[in-house]
Amino acid sequence: MQKRMTETEILENFDSALQNEDMFILYQPKINHTTGRMIGAEALLRWKHPEYGIQYPSDFIPVFENNDLIYRADLYVFERVCRFQRKCLDSGVSPVPVSVNLSRFDIYKTDYIDEMESIRKKYDIPTRLLHTEITETSAIGGMELVTDVLQKLHGFGYIVEMDDFGSGYSSLNVLKDLPVDIIKLDMRFFSGEIGGRGGAIINAVVQMTKWLDTPVVAEGVETVEQADYMKSIGCNYIQGYLYSKPVTEEEFLQKLNKLEHEPVAHAMNIIEEMDAGRFWDPNSLETLIFNNFVGGAVIFSYYHGEVEILRVNQKYIREIGMNMTEKEVLNSQPWGTCDAENKKIYEDTILRAIETMDEETCDTWRTVCSKICGEDKVCIRSAMRVIGKADDRYLLYVMIQNVTAEKKRYAELAESDLRLRAASEQANIYAWEYTVATKQMRPCFRCMRDLGLPPVLENYPEPVIENGIFPADYADMYRDWHKQIAEGVEHLEAIIPLTVGRVPFHVRYTTEFDENGKPLKAYGSATLVVDE
Ligand code: C2E
Ligand code: CA
Ligand code: CA
Repeated sequence: MQKRMTETEILENFDSALQNEDMFILYQPKINHTTGRMIGAEALLRWKHPEYGIQYPSDFIPVFENNDLIYRADLYVFERVCRFQRKCLDSGVSPVPVSVNLSRFDIYKTDYIDEMESIRKKYDIPTRLLHTEITETSAIGGMELVTDVLQKLHGFGYIVEMDDFGSGYSSLNVLKDLPVDIIKLDMRFFSGEIGGRGGAIINAVVQMTKWLDTPVVAEGVETVEQADYMKSIGCNYIQGYLYSKPVTEEEFLQKLNKLEHEPVAHAMNIIEEMDAGRFWDPNSLETLIFNNFVGGAVIFSYYHGEVEILRVNQKYIREIGMNMTEKEVLNSQPWGTCDAENKKIYEDTILRAIETMDEETCDTWRTVCSKICGEDKVCIRSAMRVIGKADDRYLLYVMIQNVTAEKKRYAELAESDLRLRAASEQANIYAWEYTVATKQMRPCFRCMRDLGLPPVLENYPEPVIENGIFPADYADMYRDWHKQIAEGVEHLEAIIPLTVGRVPFHVRYTTEFDENGKPLKAYGSATLVVDE
């Protein structure tokens, strides 16, 4: 007969179940999806009632928790796991670390860890073979309590895994204060769809946890697609039906013998000068810098051509200038704002930064779009640097500056220069502008190119007399022209043999006056005299 036990039945049968060993353990392997090797397993409790059949934890665990029985059940599981590990060690089976679940109520029991320790010692199991899994809800009783327990567990050498990470709303806040060693992400919390919103959240969480240099195990993985997706975002460790349902001790022993084992590896090497993990610490210098001193800043990950924005500061949003919300920025497709040409510029800069491990900069045009302002084009100057690395995945820190105004001015200048250039090329004309008050001369680009002149000549016309563009026999005439201009002459012209080659040019001046009739500027030109 198969029947779900009522709360009363659970409580009435609890003691006898422990005594008669009606409660037993199933083991679910944790696998490295890339190598196919086993990195560990989780112990899950089952209850086989002689009359009512198999009972599941979702039904009886809450009852245990509400009736101060859970610590007895969990210590029972721990003892069973120790016994199993002993059996492996004694029979020459190479064991893997097995994790047991710690209810938050176990954490409230002051001597719980000591009880664990005495069991472990009785079976003489090294702590490296015994992991513990705690959930974010452990923090409900206060950070102090759970921090103490964590410290104690670490003190004895236990690895602590954060179970069901991402299920709580305060996930990151809890995580940054709890130095857990492994993070478990349950795929079922992210509603499955890959690449959709769930995918984006998983990716962000994995990326953020990598910042903390913590390995991630994906739980509840049922399909190859899910596993491949997790792998693509840098999470190789999988626990779920795809590889194995929770299995009996005998079946697990077979798997232990069949599969190779490997230890859990660290997630990402944070570049040393910049302790990226400390970005989470609100008091850290890096956070201060991130928020206050630098202008706009963004942290993103780069993996085989894919860019994912992980964090932006307020100034980044302001600098981009579109009244976007932080959410809009984080959800925006980073590549989506660039055309192919600008994307290439940006990606080349990323690759340079990866190669040099130094700061690299570029200017790229983006089309930004926000609910409030609609679409606009901005030019962003990015100075980037690699701050973390795991396999082919890189974490980059980028300081940005909006240089749109600067670029637009430059583009306008370039455009008017271009027009002038085209006109003067066709007319075979050399032109310049003379400012009466300052005696400064600004030559056109052809003068600069063909005659090697700087952009501004002081004390005009002396420099061009000195360098022989205006020959000595015409020097005094030319000086006199500038006196006449200062005195208000409107127009001057003559044919002058210019340069050492004494090439005949038609040289003209037209004066510009202010509203009081005072001469301001004179526009000079020289055109080649062509023999008819
Ligand atoms: P949990 O710690 O998150 O354990 C993982 C649960 O997901 C297990 O359910 C497992 O059978 C199930 N699972 C694993 N892979 C897949 C998959 O690919 N797809 C689906 N749909 N499910 C998968 P289980 O064994 O029913 O345990 C449920 C929960 O009960 C556990 O969640 C844990 O919170 C609690 N629990 C189980 N054993 C113990 C125990 O010994 N002590 C304590 N305190 N809690 C336990
Ligand atoms: Ca668990
Ligand atoms: Ca879990």
